[in-house]
Amino acid sequence: MNNKFFRSIVEWFKKVGISIANGFKAVVRFITHPRKTIRDAKAARAAMINDVFDPIEHNPENILEVNALKEYFPIKSGFFKRTVGYVKAVDGISFNIKKGTTMGLVGESGCGKTTVGRTILRLYPKSGGEVLFNGEDVNKLDKKSLRSVRPKMQIVFQDPYSSLSPRLPVGEIIGEAVREHNIVPLEQFDDYITKIMQSCGLQEYHKDRYPHEFSGGQRQRICIARALALNPEFIVCDEPVSALDVSIQAQIINLLRDLQKEYGLTYLFISHDLSVVEHISDAVGVMYLGSMVEYAPTSELFANPLHPYTEALFSAIPVPDPNYKMNRIILEGNIPSPANPPSGCKFHTRCRKCMEVCKSVVPKRIDMGNDHYVVCHLFDEEALKLNEEMKKDPSLAESADKKVNKNLKDAKLNSTENPFM
Ligand code: SF4
Repeated sequence: MNNKFFRSIVEWFKKVGISIANGFKAVVRFITHPRKTIRDAKAARAAMINDVFDPIEHNPENILEVNALKEYFPIKSGFFKRTVGYVKAVDGISFNIKKGTTMGLVGESGCGKTTVGRTILRLYPKSGGEVLFNGEDVNKLDKKSLRSVRPKMQIVFQDPYSSLSPRLPVGEIIGEAVREHNIVPLEQFDDYITKIMQSCGLQEYHKDRYPHEFSGGQRQRICIARALALNPEFIVCDEPVSALDVSIQAQIINLLRDLQKEYGLTYLFISHDLSVVEHISDAVGVMYLGSMVEYAPTSELFANPLHPYTEALFSAIPVPDPNYKMNRIILEGNIPSPANPPSGCKFHTRCRKCMEVCKSVVPKRIDMGNDHYVVCHLFDEEALKLNEEMKKDPSLAESADKKVNKNLKDAKLNSTENPFM
C-alpha cells in the first residue's frame, strides 16, 4: 500500500517536473528568439487547422454563403495548458441558403449542427473558412458594423425554459433589444411590441407576466417574438420544437411558416426530427461528425437518399400505418470522437457498405444532378476502380490516399470548394 502510494507521488512529481522543464524551455526560447517562437506557434496552429480554401464570389440570390467553415475547439493539456489538439466540431462544411427559403440541417446529436448555427452568427469565433451574409464576411466586420448586422441575424434556442430571463416580464424580454438597436421610435414602441406579440399568437396582457407563468409552447412563442422584434432577415432555429410535445410542435412549425410568408424570412432549421424537417425545409443538409455528407432539395432527398448514413437516418422515420413493416437500418457502434476522427471516410467505422478504399481515402463530393450532392465512394467511379486495385494489392492503401487526394486537388473538387453556388 505504502509502496503504491509512494510510486504515485513519484509519478506525479515526474509529470509536474517535466511540465515545468518544458515550460521553462518555452520561456527561454521566447526570450531568446521571440519572433521565431511566435511564428512557429502560429505555423503549428495553422498546420493543425489547415485553413485553406478558395474564396467564393457572392451570388445576390443567396442571403447566406458558408464556405469551408471550420470550428475547432482546442484541447489543453499540461501544467501550462498548451494546445495539444482540437475537437473538430465543424470540419470544412459549405452550403448556401437562398433568400426567403428554409434549409434543414439534420444529423445525430453531437454531429456539430448547433455549432454550425452558432459559428454562422459569430457567437463562436470561427477557426477557418468564411461566412458571407448578404455578401459581407461576418468574421471580418468591425465592432460597429457587427452591431448593425446583429439584428438581421437572429436565433431561436432549443430550450424555451433556460433561454428566457426569469427576472424580466415578457414585454421587457421582447422589447429590450428593440430599444437597444432603435428599431422603432420610442413613441411607437408599445404598439410595435403588441403587434409582434400578436403575430406570434400572444396577447397584449401577457406583456406584464413572467416566463414561469407560461407553458412550453407559449415560451417558445416569446422566444420567436424576441427574435422577430428585431426585424431580422435570417433566423437560426436551433431545434425550436424538440422540447415541446407533438401538438404544440405543429403550432410552432405553422407559426414559423406563416411568419416566413409574412416577413420574407430565411431560416436555417436545425433538427434531428426528420418529419419536421421535411415539412418545413426547401433543402436539407445531412451532417456526420462535423462534415456534410449529403445535400439536396427536400423532395429529392426524401425520395432518393443516397448516402448510407442518410439511408440509416431515414429508415428510422416512423410510419403511421400499423401494417407497414419497418425496415430499420441499425448503425453499429458509437459516434467516433471528433477529436480523433477515423481516417478515410469518417463514417467507415459504422457503414454497412464500407469498402477497402473507404478506410484510407477521403471521399470527394459527387454531383448527382438535380442539385443533389453526396460524399461517398459508392458514387465515385475513380474510387471504385481504386477499391478493386486495393483488393488485389493491399499495400496500395497508403499510397492511394495521397494519389486520390492529389487528383481531387487538381480537379478542384476538394472539400474546400463550394458546389452549391
Ligand atoms: Fe460507407 Fe464508404 Fe460511402 Fe463512407 S465512403 S459512406 S464508408 S460506402
